[in-house]
Amino acid sequence: MLVVEDDPTIGALLESGLRAGQHEVRWARTGTQALAEAARRPPQVVLLDLGLPDQDGIQLCRMLRSRHPNALIIILTARREPMDVVLGLDAGADDYLTKPFTLVELLARLRAHLRRWDPDPDDAPLRVECGPLRLDLTARRCVIAGHEIELRMKEFDLIARLAQPAGRAVSRQTLMTDVWDPHWFGSTKTLDVTMASLRRKLEAGAAAAGCEQAPVITTIRGHGFRLERPL
Ligand code: CA
Repeated sequence: MLVVEDDPTIGALLESGLRAGQHEVRWARTGTQALAEAARRPPQVVLLDLGLPDQDGIQLCRMLRSRHPNALIIILTARREPMDVVLGLDAGADDYLTKPFTLVELLARLRAHLRRWDPDPDDAPLRVECGPLRLDLTARRCVIAGHEIELRMKEFDLIARLAQPAGRAVSRQTLMTDVWDPHWFGSTKTLDVTMASLRRKLEAGAAAAGCEQAPVITTIRGHGFRLERPL
C-alpha cells in the first residue's frame, strides 16, 4: 500500500495503524516520490492526500489512475466541499475520506474495497510473452514453445505476477500479498513450495517442447525472485 502524505504526524499515524492492521506500507511525502515509488512497484492500494508540497493531488490522482488502472485509490483530505469530492472521484479515485477520519473507519473501508478487489479483466493485458514462454491470462494457459504446461492455480498466479513485467525483481512480501492474501503476514513457506513445483514444471515443459532456453526464475537472496528476460 502506498501512503502519499506530507504531514509527518498523520503519515506516521497512518503508517503505524495500517501496519498494525497487517498492511504493508510505503510512505511517500511528495507527489514526485509517490510517482517514483509507484513506478518502482505498482501499488495495489494508494491512500492519497490532496494538499502536497510539490503538486496538486487531483492531478496526481489522474496520473496514478492512468498508469495503474487496477489500483484502489482512496483520497484522504481536509477538503470537504461536495465539489472537491466530485473532482476527486472524477479524477479516478475509488473512495474519498475527509479529515479528521478515524483509523477504524479507514480500515473498514479498505476491507470492504479489498473484498471486492478484482482487477477488471478488460483492463489487464490478455497475453504475456517472455522468450518461449507465453501466458494467456484470461484462459489461464501457460505455453512453452507451443507445448502447454499444466499449472495449478497458485503456480499460474505466481508466474503471471513475475512475468508482468519479466526481468524485474519481485519481493517475497509482494508475491505473498499479490498472489496469496492482501492481508498476509508471517511465513512464506507456501511461496517456496509453490515456487519449487513451478520451476520443476517449467523445466520439464521446456524439455518436453525441445526448447533450449527454459524460462529461468532466479532467487534473489534476502529479497525475492526474478523471471529472467531472455537476451
Ligand atoms: Ca497535506
